[in-house]
Amino acid sequence: MPDVTVSITFDLISPFKNNQNYQFFEGVVNISATATNEKKVYSVVGQEELGAFPLLTKEEAGQAIEKAKQAQKYWEEEEVYKRAEILHAWADKLLENQAQIGDMIMKEVGKNKSSAWKEVARTADLIRYTAEEGCRIHGDLLRGDSFKGGSSNKIAMAERAPRGVILAISPFNYPVNLAASKIAPALISGNAVIFKPASQGTLSGKLMIDALLETELPADVVHCVTGKGSEIGDYLVTHPDISMITFTGSTEVGQSISEKAKMIPVVLELGGKDPAIVLKNADLDLAASQIVSGAFSYSGQRCTAIKRVLVDNAVADELTSKIKKKVDELTVGNPEEEAAVTPLIDEKAADFVQGLIDDALENGASLVTGNQREENLIYPTLLDNVTPGMKVAYEEPFGPVLPIIRVSDEADFVELANESEYGLQASIFTNNVQTAMNIGSKLNVGSVQLNAKTERGPDHFPFIGSKNSGLGAQGIRRSIESMTRDKLFIMNV
Ligand code: NAP
Repeated sequence: MPDVTVSITFDLISPFKNNQNYQFFEGVVNISATATNEKKVYSVVGQEELGAFPLLTKEEAGQAIEKAKQAQKYWEEEEVYKRAEILHAWADKLLENQAQIGDMIMKEVGKNKSSAWKEVARTADLIRYTAEEGCRIHGDLLRGDSFKGGSSNKIAMAERAPRGVILAISPFNYPVNLAASKIAPALISGNAVIFKPASQGTLSGKLMIDALLETELPADVVHCVTGKGSEIGDYLVTHPDISMITFTGSTEVGQSISEKAKMIPVVLELGGKDPAIVLKNADLDLAASQIVSGAFSYSGQRCTAIKRVLVDNAVADELTSKIKKKVDELTVGNPEEEAAVTPLIDEKAADFVQGLIDDALENGASLVTGNQREENLIYPTLLDNVTPGMKVAYEEPFGPVLPIIRVSDEADFVELANESEYGLQASIFTNNVQTAMNIGSKLNVGSVQLNAKTERGPDHFPFIGSKNSGLGAQGIRRSIESMTRDKLFIMNV
């Protein structure tokens, strides 16, 4: 393996020397990348070599944090309006490079082409909205004499101050959108950012950051720290100069971050097991089409995918047959050919999903359709007569398998839906809004969707997970709020 020397320069003294000397991605200082400190990235389909990224050492990551900390002091003094202009320029650049970034997402994480391209466009929209929302964040003015015994001489001006250096850790499944949804609110509110992309997703993240660095963003305000989460994750999370952590990924890693972060504010978006609750008075055609789209798009590799169906026994046969018809119509295969269901991110993921299917079938579930596999490609699989004790009824598959659990007593819907460690979203299908409100109010989830699939967005809606699905809230305004803190200036006049 030949040595690859990457020379990067940086200038700490003039962080506002726009567009010059960015020491992004390749590392912090001169790195001699050898076989041991770079990781190659291959496409999900065809194992085409897409590129490589450096596995930064803890020392190099520490230098990035130090430089971000220094640059943040200047960045927070930049006019909000100017910060917003930079974000708008970033959105422009993303759209200019939509084809290149979209194609990289498609190859790197195996998402079909139109969804991958849409991810770029949606991200540009998210960045623009964030820029505008950031300009409208104002503080409060509080009078001292509105509290008994308080003095009219005291007036408090409460502003939203940046926290400092935000650590943004993103997952593989939306390598651009779920990264920018952290980076943009951090920047508009005057924070610096240490961005740790998912290993499989780093090259897409790099292209997104390249677009940002083509704007007038001052040097060092954003650092992309690449490497394996298992190797540098703990170091980043526990670094004393990290002021806040925003993370999207598995519940397992999220819980570990939450334990280690101690006094640092943390926002976590984690796993889910979203149920679709189908009552006997539901529009079954609507329910079937929403459920299939919700469960199988991007092969179920979405936190808000519908991951179980709880259906009233009275309509279970009819619903199952409608769902089956739609599942059988799904195209399966290559992301470049717009297949709806594509190979999973890696073999381990496919083995896990296959294990859930096998376990269910061994324990008495009925196979309605699917259960075919070609390497990482799992054909969309529908299982009926699943019971709550089967693993597929309660584990998050992150793959194209959908269990149907029949419910004979309407009173059991809430209990079954809540019988989960997760609480991201739930869908209720019924023609009776009052019933939906009654059930929805008892569900321990972040959001309830009426007569539609579970999904994130629009991106300015708060996005919340309860129980093991998350901590805190994202969504543009909520994200800005989480990345700022109240700071009071009290006038004694
Ligand atoms: P993951 O394995 O938890 O990885 C997420 C990120 O954490 C990656 O950047 C990973 O880096 C990093 N990481 C790994 N170990 C770490 C550690 N010890 N400290 C700090 N960071 C560490 O999740 P994933 O497989 O990418 O994504 C799938 C999961 O994300 C699913 O459970 C899904 O439900 C969840 N998700 C949730 C939402 C939501 O909004 N609620 C949205 C999307 C996905 P490496 O890649 O280098 O390991």
